[in-house]
Formats: sequence, C-alpha cells, structure tokens
Amino acid sequence: MSTEIEKITVGEWDENTYLVYGDKDLVIVDPGDDYERLRLQIDQTGRKPLAILITHGHFDHIGAICPLMNYYDIPFYMHSADKRLLRQANFYRKMSGSKVFIQIPKTDKFLDNCSLLELGELTIEVIHAPGHTNGSVSFKVGNDLICGDLIFEQEEGRTDLPESDPTASKNSIRKLINEFNGCRIHPGHGNSFMVSEIDQSKEL
Ligand SMILES: [Zn+2]
Ligand SMILES: [Zn+2]
Repeated sequence: MSTEIEKITVGEWDENTYLVYGDKDLVIVDPGDDYERLRLQIDQTGRKPLAILITHGHFDHIGAICPLMNYYDIPFYMHSADKRLLRQANFYRKMSGSKVFIQIPKTDKFLDNCSLLELGELTIEVIHAPGHTNGSVSFKVGNDLICGDLIFEQEEGRTDLPESDPTASKNSIRKLINEFNGCRIHPGHGNSFMVSEIDQSKEL
C-alpha cells in the first residue's frame, strides 16, 4: 500500500488541511474553514474517509469538523488537553476578528494514551508534542510528519498564547530533531520542509 499526503490551504487564516491517502481510504487532519471545498476534494478521490484528527484545538484548524463528521458519519479524535480551547473556539475566532462562528464538535476518542492509530489500511503514529498548546500532537505517516503549529518553515510556532508553554515547545522541537531527522514536516500554515532544515542556531 502506498501512502500519500495532500495539502489544501483554506479559510481566512490560510490554514493547511491535510488528507492522508491510502489506496482506498483516507483520513482528514485539521479540517479548517472550507467544508464545501474539502468535501469536493474528498469525493473526487473516490476514497473512503475514515476519521478526522486534529493536531490541536485552535479555532483555525477545526471549522469543517462538524459538517464533515455529519456528512460522512465518521468519528473525530483529539488530545484531551485541548478540550477547553476547542470549547472556546468561537471566543478566539471573535478575538481574531472573524465574524464566522462554527459548530463545536463532540470528541469520539481522546488520543492521550494512543501512540498508534490503525484506521483501515492506514497506520498513523501519534506523538504528543506540547508547547504551542498543551494538547498538541504530531501525526507520523511513513516519513511524513503533520505537526500543526509547533514549528513552521522559518520559525517556531507561537508560544505566547493562552495555554501555550514555551519550554515544552522547545523540548518538543528538540525531540523532532533528535528522533525524526529524515522526516518531512507538514505544518499548520505555510510550506512543508525537512526536519534537517530546521535552523538550530535559534536557541532551540
Ligand atoms: Zn494553533
Ligand atoms: Zn493555526
């Protein structure tokens, strides 16, 4: 079986939604604000969506969860440490200048004690990587790592937000560098890049 990852950038915060493809199945990661476009793309692949995962509970990564869950009748998984952020997502959307409010999904499964997700033909490693938020996780498929807002092409993700932890973030990034050096990182915003391209001179 071959695995492939597709990025679709959506919504007013240019958030990266990822579709992880097996031969027949797919998993949706961080479905941002464009339900119609995501559904169209998913339907075009002819693959069967199995679940929705999020790297963290921020308002820009979750806008299409409810409509996709309802349309495909699939479950939604996240780490429980971001429950409050998820619940307060519309408050943070308003603070960020958005007038569009979203439905807050109910979580079917928490990823807290899960290191491996087996979904249909897909095997996804779950790595707890707190810092940007307490409940941030990265998803590893082959040599691809979907890491949310932990780190971007040119800089570390924000750690000055409510429920961020700068020390934890640096530890999580160091762990990536030490353990996943051959991997390609797919962040929550912007371009993908190699772990080996992370600039370690920036006091990580
Ligand atoms: Zn975020
Ligand atoms: Zn984000």
